[in-house]
Amino acid sequence: MDAAGLSLRIGLTGGIGSGKSTVGKLLAQLGATLIDTDQIARQLTLPGGAAIDRIAHDFGPGMIAVDGGLARARMRDLVFADATAKQRLEAILHPLIGIETERQAAAARGAPALVLDVPLLVESGRWRAKVDKVLVVDCREATQIERVVERSGWTPEAVRSVIDSQAPRHRRRASADAVIFNDELTPDQLAAEVHTIWERWT
Ligand code: ADP
Repeated sequence: MDAAGLSLRIGLTGGIGSGKSTVGKLLAQLGATLIDTDQIARQLTLPGGAAIDRIAHDFGPGMIAVDGGLARARMRDLVFADATAKQRLEAILHPLIGIETERQAAAARGAPALVLDVPLLVESGRWRAKVDKVLVVDCREATQIERVVERSGWTPEAVRSVIDSQAPRHRRRASADAVIFNDELTPDQLAAEVHTIWERWT
């Protein structure tokens, strides 16, 4: 926290399977308040979520499932096939994610640090101005694939296609204030690295 009582804002990012969520949990154990932007996006599109009316209005009732939430598989197919649909969806979601992030940040006033978990921080650009530091969790692609196959039961090809849709490792590393190379680290070693960065930044 600085003299004005503002919390340090850490933007946490990393490719799929890098260990980003694990690092987020370790930072939370050290006293940070975690803001999970993926979870916010999901909540916005659940039944009754703040994005639902706009999605129904802009994309038609076919994009709303019987339970009243977003028809996820249908939307995934549409945005995969149509880049303008992806932009239209993002135009609805991004401002709402920003508002909810700031609401959670305000509620966490006084915390030593806020950790904004943003999978596509490097890709989307607009997040950089909202954080003081960028922490990147990095590992080899072979390790990413191995971990996600193990964690989620995906095929290696499915993991590969997500990796290919994300920023390349060198670009993510280039925008970092600190990088944790989370490959062949034991859980204790990972925790020690997170602790060192925490001590340096807070
Ligand atoms: P991300 O959020 O980047 O997709 P996770 O933090 O969920 O990645 O990590 C992916 C998987 O790899 C999880 O099952 C996690 O427990 C495991 N994992 C993360 N870091 C390590 C590590 N240093 N050693 C072994 N397993 C790890």
